[in-house]
Amino acid sequence: MKQKRFFLSESEIPTQWYNIQADMPNKPMPLKNPKTGEAMKAEDLFPIFAQECSRQELDQTHKWIDIPEKVREMYTYYRSTPLVRAYGLEEALGTPAHIYFKNESVSPVGSHKLNSAIAQAYYCKQEGVTNVTTETGAGQWGTALSYAAKVFGLEAAVYQVKISYEQKPYRRNMMQVFGAQVTPSPSMSTRAGKDILTATPNHNGSLGTAISEAVELARTTPNCKYTLGSVMSHVSLHQTVIGLEAEKQMEMAGEYPDEIIACFGGGSNFAGLAFPFMRHIFSGERKGTRFIAAEPASCPKLTKGRFMYDFGDEAGYTPMLPMFTLGHKFAPANIHAGGLRYHGAGVIVSQLLKDGFMEAIDVDQIETFDAGMLFARTEGIVPAPESCHAIAATIRRAKECRETGESKVLLFNLTGHGLMDMSAYNQYLAGNLMNYSMSEDDVTASLMKQNMI
Ligand SMILES: *Cc1c(COP(=O)(O)O)cnc(C)c1O
Repeated sequence: MKQKRFFLSESEIPTQWYNIQADMPNKPMPLKNPKTGEAMKAEDLFPIFAQECSRQELDQTHKWIDIPEKVREMYTYYRSTPLVRAYGLEEALGTPAHIYFKNESVSPVGSHKLNSAIAQAYYCKQEGVTNVTTETGAGQWGTALSYAAKVFGLEAAVYQVKISYEQKPYRRNMMQVFGAQVTPSPSMSTRAGKDILTATPNHNGSLGTAISEAVELARTTPNCKYTLGSVMSHVSLHQTVIGLEAEKQMEMAGEYPDEIIACFGGGSNFAGLAFPFMRHIFSGERKGTRFIAAEPASCPKLTKGRFMYDFGDEAGYTPMLPMFTLGHKFAPANIHAGGLRYHGAGVIVSQLLKDGFMEAIDVDQIETFDAGMLFARTEGIVPAPESCHAIAATIRRAKECRETGESKVLLFNLTGHGLMDMSAYNQYLAGNLMNYSMSEDDVTASLMKQNMI
């Protein structure tokens, strides 16, 4: 009987996260204050984020950071997540490659986002914070934060883009089930929302309006912090529990991955899976492992964006981050259904890409859904549209192995299931999706329109 799934015992679940910043030959450039242009210190981030998260954000010295006992305990409720050998997919592709995936879809909220939500909510609680707030579009991060807040007895207020709130009620309902207060943005509950609604009474909302409202709430409410589910370095740190587990599980399978593949929004799941394996490249223990980030062709910040200082959010509240970006006012074409809409890449990943430690590819959306369909039919899991990008990239590599006859070991991250995203599958199945790929010229034009260049 072939072994298909690998699990760790409770005692083998990591006790520390891996802080790649300590090992990087070129450290990420500093975050800058947009008003003064000065490098930000951890204290400068305290008004926005939990103090411990702010310190982790800028920590370039401690290679290992203890996972608090309470956080680890919450992890054990759904971790280790399975490492799975995808025999069904291999057979369908007729490839000599060995395909593995780390299945983060088994978390209570259905995605990897909970790994950081638990940590952020825990630190907030420790520091006497009573309320957390955030914005959400499709709702993955809002759902994770809502559940984590409930676990630690915090009140969560989530501003959801109004059009998503109305058209995609199920994730909104999930957040409400977990006890969050979900407000369609723009709303009359903040100054920013009132101003927008006064000017445009039927405004549909955007991530920018939702962020403005969430940040205003955090700034004007005592003991309230704003949280982010991707892009920031402390989020990537928390996600390294994925790769540290995968490393042990690959050992159980008796293999080591040649190529590590992850979809890319702001970079947190890529970081989570890849960084622990990348540390063996820095130490010289391993050579030649490839790290591949897969992004949508309609939102190609890694393959076609520019490296520059930009805001992390559409509304321009975060510090300036040195990163590959399409400009913070960028929004993918309406036809794009596969998530990963974020305009920039985290500062660590941006530096690693610049230094050649990783590579990036872009994938058209029909190829991603084709890949998701094949995966669902061979492995029995309907993948999140975001995860389909990693699956498509893996399938490309497995087909190349079929041509060359190489039996490479491929490992990808299944970040979430797609059971709440069936409207995207519905669009695909109805034949309503088109490919839309941005060219270098499109990106340049978009950056110029935003006054970024
Ligand atoms: C948010 C999300 C992503 C993309 O975010 P990263 O920070 O790039 O990992 C990918 N998959 C799922 C299921 C998500 O919810």
